[in-house]
Amino acid sequence: MAQRFLRSLWGRRDRSEEHEAAGGAERIAPGADAGPGADQCALRLTVLGCGDAFGSGGRLQSSYHVEAPQGTFLLDCGVTALIGMQRLRLDPNAVGCILVSHLHGDHFGGLVWWLLHSHYASNRTGPLTIAGPAGIRERVHAAAEAMFPGSAALELRYRLEYREFVNRAPLAIGGLAVTPFEARHPSGAPAHALRIETGGRCLSFSGDTEWVEDLVPCAKGADLFIIDCFGWDSDIGSHMSWKTISSRLDALVARRLMLTHMGPEMLARLGEVRDPRFLAAEDGLVVELSGESGARAPVGA
Ligand SMILES: [Zn+2]
Ligand SMILES: [Zn+2]
Repeated sequence: MAQRFLRSLWGRRDRSEEHEAAGGAERIAPGADAGPGADQCALRLTVLGCGDAFGSGGRLQSSYHVEAPQGTFLLDCGVTALIGMQRLRLDPNAVGCILVSHLHGDHFGGLVWWLLHSHYASNRTGPLTIAGPAGIRERVHAAAEAMFPGSAALELRYRLEYREFVNRAPLAIGGLAVTPFEARHPSGAPAHALRIETGGRCLSFSGDTEWVEDLVPCAKGADLFIIDCFGWDSDIGSHMSWKTISSRLDALVARRLMLTHMGPEMLARLGEVRDPRFLAAEDGLVVELSGESGARAPVGA
């Protein structure tokens, strides 16, 4: 199953096929049986959006939905996160925690709509923790007030808690241990790569960043390392390219790596990436981190 999955990822898709993949195709339906040998400690990662800030390839903005035995959480909440959730019929009220890598709109702007939706549409009652860079609460409130004046003063019917990252200081949130590593990506606040450990699994995420040496400990031993790969062979600053990543591959000791946040040049050259350690993110993709395979597809892949 894993072999078929990996091959299918490198196939070039046209937009209609991408839409089909993202549009609630049955093979990526949440809650599908993971099949024989399913691991009780498995993490199920669903890519809600893996695009850059400019919609390259028609992709939604950064957001990843992760189901773990210890709870369900989001990594990043780009402006389109709720659209991705709705496409895949995922329940926002089941998400107990949202981890935000940095304070660019394509990574945290969706919190504006998320909080409104929790109040007016999903009638949330369970607690929610939002963790991110220093100042995240103030930035969310400022964005909410700019988009929907008065919304920051809503009296929510549930407990909303903000937590702030401190470089290299593990943060316990529910059943998650989250270690932030400071990245290099100007966004009006520190940007972080994140290492999330839960139930014996480890998921790491570079966020947006140029190459920094702390990506090495962030990725070390991870079941999956999701990595910003905006460019093909030229670094535009603030992001990495395939050339940069491939030149540092020996230092990135993760079981699998997933290329994400790809710009137009990288998307056009994606078929030239042959290294089997890499997966290519696409909206709607589900990856199960379990057992010895490290990453495999759910039923139907
Ligand atoms: Zn971005
Ligand atoms: Zn950014």
